[in-house]
Amino acid sequence: MIPLITTIWQTESWQRQMQQMIRDPGQLFSRLNLDLSARPGLAEALEQFPLRVTEAFVAKMQAGDWNDPLLLQVLPQAQETNLHAGFVDDPLAELEANPVPGLIHKYHGRVLLITTSACAIHCRYCFRRNFPYNENNPSQKDWQQALDYIAAHPEIHEVILSGGDPLAASDDYLDRLISRIADIPHVETLRIHTRLPLVLPARITAELLTVLSKHRLTTVMVIHCNHPNELDQASIDALNALNDAKIQLLNQTVLLRGINDNAETLIKLSHRLFASRVLPYYLHLLDKVRGASHFDVAEAQAQTLMRDVLASLPGYLVPRLVREDPKASSKRPLALL
Ligand SMILES: *Cc1c(COP(=O)(O)O)cnc(C)c1O
Ligand code: SF4
Repeated sequence: MIPLITTIWQTESWQRQMQQMIRDPGQLFSRLNLDLSARPGLAEALEQFPLRVTEAFVAKMQAGDWNDPLLLQVLPQAQETNLHAGFVDDPLAELEANPVPGLIHKYHGRVLLITTSACAIHCRYCFRRNFPYNENNPSQKDWQQALDYIAAHPEIHEVILSGGDPLAASDDYLDRLISRIADIPHVETLRIHTRLPLVLPARITAELLTVLSKHRLTTVMVIHCNHPNELDQASIDALNALNDAKIQLLNQTVLLRGINDNAETLIKLSHRLFASRVLPYYLHLLDKVRGASHFDVAEAQAQTLMRDVLASLPGYLVPRLVREDPKASSKRPLALL
């Protein structure tokens, strides 16, 4: 007979999984049968940006493989502390487009709200790794300023919840925030940028689906999946549940050296996303943030790669190759060779 205790473990709440995420490199390496002493110089990299990863994400990694494409996304590396010309703290100049705390207004018709500073994973290439979150982590009181700003700008049709990861916030918090956004008549679309369907699929609960479906706004969710191995059954189930709740699903990927910088991986990723009813949206060139230069793929190489991707996929499965340009009025599309 199967003991009852297994059921309890399987239904562990997302909050508990989030609390128990791995923050200690020793714990991560022993979980993956890797020898910590083989990697000197981690301490300084960790000081700049701590380790965070959920068990659900680690479970998709191959034990014993230092080059696992999911491990490389979270693995602190000594080389992060090397300085490289052009790799800076605020590569997108977001602080210049930050009119009130927690709100970034850079592009016409849409604003980005920094819903929470928390993430269930720390991606080493993240452009927000050096962002002054403490000054941009609004309390309930501060929402009023951001909401007043949106209300005073009738051209804003779309509000993007970003972070951090907005789904790291509680259902109740999201419910209150979304209903206040929906009270602003000219806002039509709610967009959520999240990595949790891949990193913590247990977050996609029936209660969350209710919160995301019950308001009048059209809802788009942009997930952030970099590699086909991230799409295991638990994540596919979460995506199907979101899709069944009439949430339009799109994906953005960051092109990362040693992780997904080959046509075969990108083609497989598009096919697997589509099988989960997610359409590829953007393929981003790396934002040149301090500490992430080892992930950089040159523009010309990216363009060559895209030629092979384009030759192998139907048009609707080809993501747009873009670079974020602090001075441009949109993400800047790169011409394909
Ligand atoms: C990427 C981004 C958006 C959204 O751009 P889309 O092209 O609509 O996906 C909005 N605001 C900021 C600050 C962004 O960085
Ligand atoms: S904001 Fe997104 S990319 Fe950055 S660490 Fe969090 S989940 Fe990763």
